[in-house]
Amino acid sequence: MALHLLYGGTFDPVHEGHLAVARAALIACVADRVDFVPAADPPHRKAPGASAQQRAEMLQLAIRGAHGLGLDLCELRRAGPSFTIDTLRAWRAMHGDDAPLGFLIGADAFLGLATWREWPALLQLAHWVVAHRPGSALEGLSEPLAAACRNREVAQPSALHAAPGGCLFHLALPPQPESATAMRTALALGQAHPAGLPLAVAQYIAANGLYR
Ligand code: ATP
Repeated sequence: MALHLLYGGTFDPVHEGHLAVARAALIACVADRVDFVPAADPPHRKAPGASAQQRAEMLQLAIRGAHGLGLDLCELRRAGPSFTIDTLRAWRAMHGDDAPLGFLIGADAFLGLATWREWPALLQLAHWVVAHRPGSALEGLSEPLAAACRNREVAQPSALHAAPGGCLFHLALPPQPESATAMRTALALGQAHPAGLPLAVAQYIAANGLYR
């Protein structure tokens, strides 16, 4: 069955590392599509440098013309904080319990999964496609996340198509050194186009005076 991947994050701003992860996942998982899911403005945390609307517009520019990459704005339409459990349940309500779904995440974020709301249910509601990220070794997974991941690992993408969720798939890709923090720092220092920032996104940032 067709596999759909959701790729959640703040994307403040989207950079080439995010795009490389999405493209690699599309191919390695033999997925139909990867939809970026930008988080809404968090009410209880430090606000991102750009508004949710601006971060979505930058994503739109970055994926323009890229086959198989899309944007899902469900977290912007929902009131309140963006919990992934709500996003996955909303997706299931629309597409059914049998449709294969994967959630794409970087290793650094996956290491903290046990702090996410209803995290054991998250592991079952979708497959987890974990992208390697420089500096974040998955060997160091702490209990009880390590225990919950045991017996879920699959090496073949066919396993992701054969079940609606519940598997763990390691996405190998060349190291992507970019981070949104580094982009924001470089922009604040006056660099108009830091390496690893898509050109159309750099132009949008300049036109809107973001991250100064
Ligand atoms: P920040 O520096 O502000 O923390 P970020 O670059 O990590 O931002 P996010 O929007 O927080 O960007 O990331 C969204 C998702 O993409 C997360 O799961 C993160 O782990 C993953 N990700 C981001 N950059 C990379 C990268 N260079 N390689 C692999 N995964 C990445």
